[in-house]
Amino acid sequence: ADQLDVPLLTAWLGRAAAAIEAQQGYLSDLDAAIGDGDHGANLARGFKAVMAKLGTPADPAALFRSVGMTLIGTVGGASGPLYGTLFVEMAKAAAGRATLDAAGWHGVLAAGVAGVVARGKAAPGDKTMIDALTPAVAALEAAASLPEALARSAAAAREGAEATAPLVARKGRASYLGERAIGHVDPGATSSAMLLAALAEAAG
Ligand code: ADP
Ligand code: MG
Ligand code: MG
Repeated sequence: ADQLDVPLLTAWLGRAAAAIEAQQGYLSDLDAAIGDGDHGANLARGFKAVMAKLGTPADPAALFRSVGMTLIGTVGGASGPLYGTLFVEMAKAAAGRATLDAAGWHGVLAAGVAGVVARGKAAPGDKTMIDALTPAVAALEAAASLPEALARSAAAAREGAEATAPLVARKGRASYLGERAIGHVDPGATSSAMLLAALAEAAG
């Protein structure tokens, strides 16, 4: 595909929901090591509700807004409002557009991630989802076909998530652990990488 439209974005969410469901034990295990062990269950509940409430949105903005509002209403914890903000800000940036090409998606994802930063105040290196999302946005800057851009972006997110292992956390529950968080991958960065991997698969 060379454009993201409502059917393709819906396919993405279906893949994302399935991946989160399949990996929920893994995500909660990551969170048990440096948090309270609920990240997988939180997101699995949220994405199940996303799919139940989605219907047939009129355009990408309506789709993103539905996802964001459902995540805010169902996920809870730190990640619910943050993932909700990601999608609500993506909706604002996508307003009025029927489809998104690689450049359009770059702008939309950048706006979403800026919203997460504004809300959560995490910087790169703080051992949060921002460590996956920021390189995912940066990887979209290179001109490429949409599938290639999404594959690069997903790979950058995965590398960013893996690179959280040696970090001390400066935001969220993991920050209470100090140096004991070292050696553990951040669960939110891992789930962000899963979401972007599902998008690359859906568009590939
Ligand atoms: P909780 O910590 O409330 O149980 P979750 O377990 O669902 O919530 O989510 C934890 C994840 O949220 C962390 O792994 C981290 O990636 C992310 N997170 C926490 N605080 C912030 C923040 N201020 N900015 C960005 N991401 C954050
Ligand atoms: Mg948790
Ligand atoms: Mg919790």
